[in-house]
Amino acid sequence: DGVMYTEVRRPCRVMILVNPHSGRGQALQLFTGHVQGMLTEAAVPYTLVITEHQNHARELVRKVDLSQWDALVIMSGDGLLFEVINGLMEREDWQEAIQTPLGILPGGSGNALAASIHHYSQSPPAWNEELLLSCGFMLCKGLVGSLDLVSIHLASRRRLFSFLSLAWGFVADVDIESEKYRHVGAIRFLMGTLVRLASLRVYQGRLAYLPVKEAPKLPKGSIKAHLEPSTPNHPSLCSSLPCQFVPNSSPSQNSLHNRKSTNSNQNTISNSSNNAITTKRSETQSDGKTSALVDSLLPELDQPVPESWTVVKEEDFVLVLAVYQSHIAEDLWAVPGAMADDGLIHLFYVTAGISRPALLRLFLAMEKGAHLASGCPHLVYEKVKALRLEPITPHGMISVDGEMVEYGPVQAQIHPGLARLVCG
Ligand code: ADP
Ligand code: MG
Repeated sequence: DGVMYTEVRRPCRVMILVNPHSGRGQALQLFTGHVQGMLTEAAVPYTLVITEHQNHARELVRKVDLSQWDALVIMSGDGLLFEVINGLMEREDWQEAIQTPLGILPGGSGNALAASIHHYSQSPPAWNEELLLSCGFMLCKGLVGSLDLVSIHLASRRRLFSFLSLAWGFVADVDIESEKYRHVGAIRFLMGTLVRLASLRVYQGRLAYLPVKEAPKLPKGSIKAHLEPSTPNHPSLCSSLPCQFVPNSSPSQNSLHNRKSTNSNQNTISNSSNNAITTKRSETQSDGKTSALVDSLLPELDQPVPESWTVVKEEDFVLVLAVYQSHIAEDLWAVPGAMADDGLIHLFYVTAGISRPALLRLFLAMEKGAHLASGCPHLVYEKVKALRLEPITPHGMISVDGEMVEYGPVQAQIHPGLARLVCG
């Protein structure tokens, strides 16, 4: 049956964007040392683009002819992917552009998405070069899944798209302040955490969110009927895949047919959860152009939140952190149950009054994803579809995917499965 699969194979054209200054400044060396040979072996044609300045990648993908490329892969930290996603969403043809499979090779100091997709592939934890090899192998395999994106509105009415996190307070301060330790690699977050702990402060603000209604508990025996969604047959992801690499790996991975069925299952599951959230996509206008993506869950930032939202009583926080992947750093497993396309914003906040040792214990427990089970009374966790944060403290930092954004009121909503991601 190998012959059949050979016929459907065709070369994949991959653009690999490298930020030579990310992490310890070794992304290019790591690429040539660990990934290049792998791609050559798997016969994956690629073009290397070395970014020359911040927003170079963003400007490039905003203009590039995407029909030339089957995947856009970044070799850097999360910041470069943030550029690429926002560049794609700034295009007039964003609806098509954001369907371009995106890949990530960890080359930065903040490699949260790489750690997350490695985790989703159910592999045991890996760091540094081992994590890079795992992500390189996933790129060679070429399986593509869905990726949720979150749209974020800032006070200036600018809108950003985020794939990882929105942070305010302690975590945002660590994100940004630790950038000066980038040269030490992933351990910069631990260093930043210790420094911030020494000058722990309280951040005042108002927080509100639209909670996800938990599905009612099903009586025993009825599970199967309820879990089988009545959605129409969706084309499998693979049939719309622009490319398939078929390396000689395990027999099940080798079979395109097997992979199709696996992926169509994934597709059905994510679609069933998508149905729970109404996301208005743009409509094609008469001139053939598409209008902007509508954030149907969000009122204007200066209007009150709808009645269906929960307004948090407390106004004194140590941190507010919204996450939509499993990891927020290579060794910080923030959301044990998260998936790339679970359609959820996982909202955490820590209220004021937590002691320094207790906060440190939370971050240490997060290495093993054990912080939620630790019973810390100051830690709150909610699954939400949308949220709004209005800082009262006049100065401070807000980070989106680890990048600093304008400080002030922000609101966000999830768009399930808006993008596509090369993953295990
Ligand atoms: P790290 O994980 O080390 O922080 P990132 O990928 O997040 O690595 O990149 C850090 C920052 O560098 C991001 O803000 C990104 O936009 C920016 N950047 C990308 N390419 C370049 C470049 N060639 N020179 C300087 N900065 C860049
Ligand atoms: Mg970064």
